[in-house]
Amino acid sequence: MDQNTECKSKTNRVLVTGGAGFIGSHIVDRLMENGNEVIVFDNLSSGKIGFIEHHLDKPNFTLIKGDLLEAEKLETVCQGIDLVYHVAANPDVRLGAVDTKVHFDQNITATYNLLEAMRKSDVPNIVFTSTSTVYGEATIIPTPEEYGPLIPISLYGASKLACEALITSYCHTFDMNSWIFRFANIIGDRSTHGIIFDFINKLKINSEQLEILGDGRQEKSYLHVSECIDAILFAVKNSRDAVNIFNVGSDDTINPTRIGEIIVEEMGLEDVEFTYTGGKRGWKGDVPRMLLGIKKLKGAGWCPDYSSERSVREAVRVLVEASL
Ligand code: NAD
Repeated sequence: MDQNTECKSKTNRVLVTGGAGFIGSHIVDRLMENGNEVIVFDNLSSGKIGFIEHHLDKPNFTLIKGDLLEAEKLETVCQGIDLVYHVAANPDVRLGAVDTKVHFDQNITATYNLLEAMRKSDVPNIVFTSTSTVYGEATIIPTPEEYGPLIPISLYGASKLACEALITSYCHTFDMNSWIFRFANIIGDRSTHGIIFDFINKLKINSEQLEILGDGRQEKSYLHVSECIDAILFAVKNSRDAVNIFNVGSDDTINPTRIGEIIVEEMGLEDVEFTYTGGKRGWKGDVPRMLLGIKKLKGAGWCPDYSSERSVREAVRVLVEASL
């Protein structure tokens, strides 16, 4: 039996780092629905107890409040685990321009600590939430998984690419298996950062004007979190190489001006003036055009149902309602 076949038959004790965060808590919901034993390891820096509180009393659920920088604690947590969903990270791309250490610590060192704990405790399988930013400003769009060279332009993208390299090298050196997912922009219920979250907050403070970073014409792909989780679970179940890399996104793009219009509509506002900070990027390290090729996922049998616009509208509806 190869390692992945074994993994599929007994991956019922699952550790989710960052399981109290936006994407992590949705992964946890689905893993719990599927009857797994789930252990969440989270320092609650951006995660919220409220996102997982419906599981707290269940016998197959454990929350461990801890930090991935606490290497020794991680070793204890990894004992007896079959599969790790490594979701914890600092996901704020913009931060790298003002703090050069945060992504190094929270993403690279944290991932190294986790891999070491997994190696020492013989945990064979890791799922990693990576990002489109590893491609940098790709010249081929839609950008396929085999695109190269990978030249990230943000410290966040660089840190995630370093994590990917650590993971693939651990897989080859220590007979582990990995599933690496390079996400487009993931949006939906419980999201606590990103363009939709920012625009709603800005409009709540000033409902007459919306400042948009850049020229408003950046074209990027957005995917609803429910579809993202479907894609991840589908790919983990149906791919069996030692290293499995998948882009996860929708088939099209949407720009910030259109996102602003949808938010204005869904908030029931009128005559909002859009202002632009100018330039083709929103901030240093922003990739103005991003659309991931998803032929590999489609070839494996998974296809998104939502366009970027539909993902945005559904996400906006729930986030506007939650903000009332
Ligand atoms: P999030 O901030 O909601 O979730 C991160 C979680 O990790 C939080 O619960 C936080 O408390 C926890 N955490 C952070 N540092 C930790 C540490 N040192 N130790 C323990 N826990 C820690 O972010 P998200 O949007 O849900 O992102 C989840 C993952 O997906 C991240 O790895 C991110 O880089 C990746 N990703 C997200 C997007 C997106 O559009 N949201 C796109 C690409 C990739």
